Amino acid sequence: MNIAFLSEDTPHAEAIRATPGSRGGGRLLRRTFIIALVLVSGGLLTSGAVELFFRYRESVAGIWALQREMAQGAAFKIQQFVQDIEKTMRASTQTPDIVTAGLTEAYRFQLSKLLKVTPAITTATVLDPNGRELLKESRVEMTQPEDLGDRSSDEAFVQARSGAVFFSPVYFVRQSEPYMRIAVPIEPFAGEVIGVLIAEVNLKYIWEVISQIKVGQTGYAYVVSREGDLIAHPDISLVLQKQNLKNLVQVQAALAGAPGPFAAQPNLAGRQVFPAYATIPELGWAVLVERPTAEAYAPLYASILRTSVLLLVGLGMATLASLLISRRVVSPVEVLRQGAAQIGAGALDHRINVQTGDELEALATEFNRMAAQLQESYASLEQKVEERTQELEIANKHKSQFLANMSHELRTPLNGIQGYTELIVDGIYGEVPEKIKEIMERIQLSGNRLLGLINAVLDLSKIEAGRLTLSLADYSMQGVVQTVYTAVEPLAAEKQLVLNVNIQPDLPVGKGDEQRLTQVLMNLVGNAIKFTEVGTVAVQVAVTNGAFMVAVSDTGIGIAEADQQKVFEEFQQADSSSTRKKGGTGLGLAIAKKIIEMHNGRIWVESHLGQGSTFQFMLPVRVEQPREAT
Ligand code: ADP
Repeated sequence: MNIAFLSEDTPHAEAIRATPGSRGGGRLLRRTFIIALVLVSGGLLTSGAVELFFRYRESVAGIWALQREMAQGAAFKIQQFVQDIEKTMRASTQTPDIVTAGLTEAYRFQLSKLLKVTPAITTATVLDPNGRELLKESRVEMTQPEDLGDRSSDEAFVQARSGAVFFSPVYFVRQSEPYMRIAVPIEPFAGEVIGVLIAEVNLKYIWEVISQIKVGQTGYAYVVSREGDLIAHPDISLVLQKQNLKNLVQVQAALAGAPGPFAAQPNLAGRQVFPAYATIPELGWAVLVERPTAEAYAPLYASILRTSVLLLVGLGMATLASLLISRRVVSPVEVLRQGAAQIGAGALDHRINVQTGDELEALATEFNRMAAQLQESYASLEQKVEERTQELEIANKHKSQFLANMSHELRTPLNGIQGYTELIVDGIYGEVPEKIKEIMERIQLSGNRLLGLINAVLDLSKIEAGRLTLSLADYSMQGVVQTVYTAVEPLAAEKQLVLNVNIQPDLPVGKGDEQRLTQVLMNLVGNAIKFTEVGTVAVQVAVTNGAFMVAVSDTGIGIAEADQQKVFEEFQQADSSSTRKKGGTGLGLAIAKKIIEMHNGRIWVESHLGQGSTFQFMLPVRVEQPREAT
């Protein structure tokens, strides 16, 4: 017995390496890597997205809050400005003179003082209760008495005369500066209107307030009146064009006082802007602060970019980390798998090399220990088998040697006995009585049988010991048949059997052990004659597919189905009483089978009890490489 240990370059080891899943990384590596990547990058992406979402919301809310604050500041300033003027005007009507003397020429002094303390007022006019201009002081023109006119139908007069403050819509002087008219009643005592003070107020100051508002890089503020007319805008030309902005969504919302924040809207120029507003309730005006979305979003975009870059860097690191992790775990597992597969396939000298210092290494050590133990027990098993085989061989040799010696020892005296018996029968020692002759002939027959047995045993022992070798040489199958025919013809004649020989003409020259083949055919034909009382024994030879087909058939007792296999075994005879009576050793067919098989041929029998038998063998015409006897 021979156990082959697989080395690295055995075909088996190749097969192990070629198993699926062992190529470049393997499924486990991929799966571990993908899971780690999904987990890490999933976390990063989610946090990034959440962060961006809230930053967007915060920045939209922040933009609104900031701009609204600016708008409120501006609105407050503008309101303050207008209110201050109104207050100063009222104060100038509450002089002791007015209370005691009413509206006199002396009031002119109050007008000049008003102009002095309030730079925004360019002209101040006093009307009597009938709407006629009494006094007029102006920064820009000299007023002659004849210039004074009737303004009883002026809305400013009408409203102030009734006791209320009047703020006029905005108007433009010299096509450049916005003005408004403020009218207050002159009341020495509550409810007693003795005249009206009208002031022309230059609103350049509002423009200054508006222009000073800086919203980011390109943001701006503007003021609209109750009617949607543009009152103040950093771009004065727009104001001069008397733009009405009522069609802008944000202006409508501002005038309606809708709560913010507002989504981005197109502005006057059609650009998308973020609007915010504050109202000045006394005047019915609204201050709007607008900032282009592109600019407003800039910090948001920058933040998105920053987050994306961070995310990318994070992803890269995550990829790297998960790759490292999966390699750390999966590579040793793969080494383990391959090692276990090799050991399992019989490479018991294989050792798994995993040095991770963890459970995987422990597992590898266990595998190695197991392999070592297996290897050890295999080695001792092999040794035992070898020892037994040797013992058996020696015993066999002894046996066959013994048999050979025995046969020789038996044959020599037996040959002697046979020789003397023949001499006696032949009358060499003088006339022998018929009775003695008969006995002598029986002795001769038994002796011959004994010799046959001895020869058969010798053959078999040689075959068993592997010492029977074929001497291959060219032979004529026809010659073999002829030899056998000649030998058995007298026997057949004695039993009055017909002996038929049928040989295919032009048989090819065979190659084999002629003597042994003759022995085989002799045995078959001999048996056929032996076990046939009446009829025919026929020998047939043909060639098919490079093989001789030889059949020996008889019309004898036949062999039961159950015995047909047995007759080819050693010392086995068919289970019938008639067989036993014929004598024989039960070795002939066993030897014949071995000889045919050594010639790479095959032998078999077809028979029915009581209906004769046909023994047949197939024999390659030319045997070049004989088979070992088994
Ligand atoms: P033996 O020396 O006993 O003939 P063989 O091995 O030649 O030994 O044959 C074994 C047995 O096979 C025989 O004893 C016989 O029972 C049976 N046998 C062989 N040839 C025939 C045959 N032609 N007809 C019937 N029986 C046969």
